[in-house]
Amino acid sequence: MKVAAHDPSLDKIKLGSVWYADIVATDMQQVQSVVVDIDLNNMSRWELDHMRVALGFTATYTVQDDENIATIVITRTGKNDTAGEGTLVSMPIRTWELKTGYTYESGTKNGKPAFTYKQFRDMKEFWPVDISMEIDRGLVTFVDGTTDTFSGEGPQVDTESYKMAKDMISTVEGKAYYDVWDGGHIHTAAALPDQAATCTEDGYTGRTYCESCNSVVDWGTAIPAGTYLFGEDGVLVGPGDAAVVASGSCGENATWTLYDSGMLEIGGTGAVSDYESQLVTPWVGYRDQIKSIEIGAGITSIGRYAFSHLYECTSITFAEGSKLEKIEVTGFYYDFQVTSVVLPETVRSIGVLAFGNMYGLTDLYVPQGVSMIGDNAFRGSGQVTLSVAAGSYAELYAVNQNIAHISRDK
Ligand SMILES: [Zn+2]
Repeated sequence: MKVAAHDPSLDKIKLGSVWYADIVATDMQQVQSVVVDIDLNNMSRWELDHMRVALGFTATYTVQDDENIATIVITRTGKNDTAGEGTLVSMPIRTWELKTGYTYESGTKNGKPAFTYKQFRDMKEFWPVDISMEIDRGLVTFVDGTTDTFSGEGPQVDTESYKMAKDMISTVEGKAYYDVWDGGHIHTAAALPDQAATCTEDGYTGRTYCESCNSVVDWGTAIPAGTYLFGEDGVLVGPGDAAVVASGSCGENATWTLYDSGMLEIGGTGAVSDYESQLVTPWVGYRDQIKSIEIGAGITSIGRYAFSHLYECTSITFAEGSKLEKIEVTGFYYDFQVTSVVLPETVRSIGVLAFGNMYGLTDLYVPQGVSMIGDNAFRGSGQVTLSVAAGSYAELYAVNQNIAHISRDK
């Protein structure tokens, strides 16, 4: 067991940004539960309501405010397919930020606005600010009932205010940094689209995010993930009528869940992985059970062979607000029972054979913004009529390839 920086490449992070430390298990399959006390330096703030917890585990926490020590309890509640090392929990920590514009209750500045970032920089009395922590006590219980302990120094990261002013300006490198430094970061908070909850992940409304420091500014209101029960075999069983057959990860931040209704739900964010063939996808053992695919709004690309050769699948749908941009080579190849697909407006690129050998496909809506369609993208799908925007790249492609199409206004 160890506690490590989620992204060790980060350094001199911006004041007020969120940084993640991970609790990492050497062998995920062995972990039954973990209890750990972590003492965080007092300038930093735990934001543990927003911990990310590995599939098949739950985590709770308490914080002793005076010491800033968090006690985190992680418990296995189901299955997690990660082999070897894996992250049990990612803990968000907000680094210190200068409170600009407030007025002192007492003292010489009473009634006047206090520091600005520029003043903070110019007064040459600032101090080094970092995030650092100490693991006071860690106890891991393994599935076989044995236990182990761990403790020691945790990860550390410097902020943009990484030295005392006098130390900074006494070196050439420090002086150069000081001269261009604005004295502290000010968020530019923009609203994020609301995210619906899935059975494993919380959703949220009203969240804001600062691109400049890659941090949530206001976490908004959480929508709790579905509450599910687990059967004796460790397989997730839903409280409703849709029981989970299997689930796991299918990309760095993408997840899959197969329900006994035959629905394969893809959640999370970013890319669904590329696969060497349809025989090495995470759901290969369940291919004959997959009747529909629902792709969540956070997914941006669909990997090679990801959903190909799903012979029982009759429906492919994309969540409202989908951010999908790219369908890789052979993404939906050979899904011959699917009759109609409406691609999200955000799609820009369709790979070679992406919709090939879909004998049953009759209608495919191609959004106006598509600017790349690979060779033979629809080869073997002879019944299909593409809906394309007049004057679009897709229209030209359809004309050149002699594919039936209807041109719509936009
Ligand atoms: Zn920011």
